[in-house]
Amino acid sequence: MAAPDLTAEQAEPEVVDLLLPEVARFMARDVDGAAIDREGLIPPAVREAAGRLGLFGMTIPGAYGGAGLSLGAASRVVAEMARVDRSVAIMVGLHCGLGTRGLVELGNPALKSRWLPRLASGATIASFAATEANAGSDLMAIRTTGRATEHGLRIEGEKSYVTNGGFAGLFTVLARTPGLGGARAHSLVCIPADTPGIVLGREEDKLGIRGSSTVTVTFDGAVVPLDHVLGTPGKGLEHAYEILTWGRTLMSAGCVGTARGALDAARAHVAARRQFGRAVGEFGATRAHVAWMAARTHAMQAMVSSVAELHAAGSSIEIESAMAKVFCSDGAFEVCDRSLQLHGALGFLEETGVARMLRDCRITRIFEGANDVLLVRVGAGVLGGKGTFDVRCVPELSDVAERLEGAERTLRHEARAMAERLGVEAIRHQVALQRLARALIALRAAAAVLERASGESLPTARYTAELLLEEARSWLDRLWWADRDEAAAREMTDRMAAP
Ligand SMILES: Cc1cc2nc3c(=O)[nH]c(=O)nc-3n(C[C@H](O)[C@H](O)[C@H](O)COP(=O)(O)OP(=O)(O)OC[C@H]3O[C@@H](n4cnc5c(N)ncnc54)[C@H](O)[C@@H]3O)c2cc1C
Repeated sequence: MAAPDLTAEQAEPEVVDLLLPEVARFMARDVDGAAIDREGLIPPAVREAAGRLGLFGMTIPGAYGGAGLSLGAASRVVAEMARVDRSVAIMVGLHCGLGTRGLVELGNPALKSRWLPRLASGATIASFAATEANAGSDLMAIRTTGRATEHGLRIEGEKSYVTNGGFAGLFTVLARTPGLGGARAHSLVCIPADTPGIVLGREEDKLGIRGSSTVTVTFDGAVVPLDHVLGTPGKGLEHAYEILTWGRTLMSAGCVGTARGALDAARAHVAARRQFGRAVGEFGATRAHVAWMAARTHAMQAMVSSVAELHAAGSSIEIESAMAKVFCSDGAFEVCDRSLQLHGALGFLEETGVARMLRDCRITRIFEGANDVLLVRVGAGVLGGKGTFDVRCVPELSDVAERLEGAERTLRHEARAMAERLGVEAIRHQVALQRLARALIALRAAAAVLERASGESLPTARYTAELLLEEARSWLDRLWWADRDEAAAREMTDRMAAP
């Protein structure tokens, strides 16, 4: 069947409704997740088929041959892919998010005309290279440097863990550029992979997403014209954080897909598997697992939709995309873990595919900002009054909404008290900040669920929001003991002998 024409002048929801069944067929027909995992490779034929379907051009503007889909629409497509295979979803999601977003938003017209059509067709695949061996969470510590010379910008340095790096045709690289925008300045630079002086390392051997390409890329005097700097020279870090909002949202969408896959597998298994004379799914404890998994998946989807809607309305999604990333990556891992548990021994075997889902989604709690670090940042934002939200919902759920608003008032009160008590020192109280952040994230997810509830989804929304409210309250309760817990942990680790 022919792929839908992504460049046609159609309303976006119609295009996505046409595309999703095609994506599902592509994933079922062309993608063998178990083989990709076993062989540690996405076959080039899969990449080509994804290109023919227009997946690499999803978020590239129509003027350059893409479909110009919004963040929300692209999220739906990435979720559908991730339901089946995370390596393929990450290859496409990384290309559409971190890989091409810088060029789309910040590239000059000549650079865009040259590269975007090829990136849209999938003839060229994009990578984003920020991390280095000694600079992961702390991107200020990067050492890769671009120096302006008479021939252009000369790049020296080494980037680690570059997704899609093994076959990418274009890298967006974060480099220090002391001559551009100040002595301590950083810039984002577009570097074609065939530039002399680029050396690729071997593919990393990984726990999960084993088919996704991850390599070290060395820039040994690679020279590009000065106009390959994206956006404002010297503003590279700000630009990178902006681009990361897309990456984190698409990654969160992938987590929704993974959770759906794991939930579907668990439901099918507990319905079929019989122990003690009845289906395992009939036991109360099993029902509690399945209900939790369904509620969490529902909330993750609501959270992603909410971030995408904020973005479509022109609001900043810096804090919301970080919250969604933490919520969805932790959620997907726990849904997979519970699914594996419900499968019993079979879940531990590779043949059910659940073990692979668990392994594949583990990295999402680390990359594009380790969750521990993001939680501290979100918590610090709460101290500064960030992350506020309204709760709007149908009258049938107004009682839950009222309790949610009450919990948010408590959270804001606690944050103000903490800021007043500790002043600037508050940002060093990481355990408290993380608990504030966890509480806010649970409340934000509950609000996203309530906002979208109508008709048949009302009971699911109520159940999900009640669970999240309970979760938020428990984090707020634990806020009382955060400093005591952090001090005890410091004492404990100080007593431990050096490794
Ligand atoms: C498969 C894979 C693909 C990747 N793809 C890309 C890519 O395409 N492009 C790219 O640029 N990078 C990529 N990365 C790198 C990834 O983004 C980084 O690994 C991530 O940002 C974390 O950095 P790190 O590994 O150096 O961890 P570190 O910074 O060393 O942190 C390790 C741990 O220490 C703790 N920690 C660190 N700092 C703090 C703090 N301030 N407060 C509290 N706790 C803290 C956290 O628990 C954290 O998880 C990829 C990594 C992997 C494994």
